[in-house]
Amino acid sequence: MERDEGRGRVALVTGGASGIGRATAGVLAARGWRVVISDIDAARCLEAAGTIGAEAVPFDVVDEAATEAALADIEARLGPVDALVANAGLIQPGGRPEDLPLSEFDRIIAVNLRGVYVSCLKAGTRMAGRGRGAIVITGSVTASRTAPLHAYAPSKAAAVHMAACLAAEWGRSGVRVNAVSPGYVATPPLQAAIDRGQRDPRLLTEAAALGRLVAAEEVGRGVAFLLSDDASAITGINLPVDAGWLAGAHLST
Ligand code: NAD
Repeated sequence: MERDEGRGRVALVTGGASGIGRATAGVLAARGWRVVISDIDAARCLEAAGTIGAEAVPFDVVDEAATEAALADIEARLGPVDALVANAGLIQPGGRPEDLPLSEFDRIIAVNLRGVYVSCLKAGTRMAGRGRGAIVITGSVTASRTAPLHAYAPSKAAAVHMAACLAAEWGRSGVRVNAVSPGYVATPPLQAAIDRGQRDPRLLTEAAALGRLVAAEEVGRGVAFLLSDDASAITGINLPVDAGWLAGAHLST
């Protein structure tokens, strides 16, 4: 074990079957958390959990009843959920607003905003009742810079702001809530967009101060820090893990 930050406490990672969530689940498991992976894709959820040595509890984060039932099931079998990574999200290919069907806008907002809220509501209310817990919401650098992602970027800005609002609400109940904002990570949806020629990897790296993409595990380590007791006085913040993309925007101009 790298270090025993989790001490056997239960951490739930939504959207944990792929990409950043999967890597984060691996980092948390290596640091002594008892990890539960959830995802809407049940088959991949089971497969990912098997490789990490985690539990798989698949559910759709948009569905309030399913989320409530999953939390009740996890806590009955494994004990209190002390950490939540509200990570499940949909990525949007870039484009003009007039080319974005409203049905697609609604779908992205539903997962990236309502889904994050429902996960936080169900897990955070339980944590607040017990007087302890920590939540990390996956934001994005597009929460604080404009991008031609007219549903995705606003959904992430709202999700990051939600972390601060919930931090203020639950702080006196012993619950910390933060956001992590990844830069560009070559997870399956971004890699697919690169392969289709919709995103130019050169442009994604050019603006980053470090001149490269971010590895999913690097985001996972940021999340692990925010969940750990090392971050015991940190709440309501948004931590970019972006290879210096926010710092280096002028490098591409
Ligand atoms: P990914 O597609 O590899 O992983 C997302 C997972 O969420 C998938 O396994 C998917 O099945 C799951 N999911 C989707 N809808 C769900 C739902 N309704 N309920 C439960 N699970 C659901 O993508 P990723 O790049 O790892 O993205 C993870 C998070 O990181 C997202 O919130 C994304 O917006 C954010 N993010 C990604 C990048 C990047 O460059 N990849 C950058 C910034 C932020």
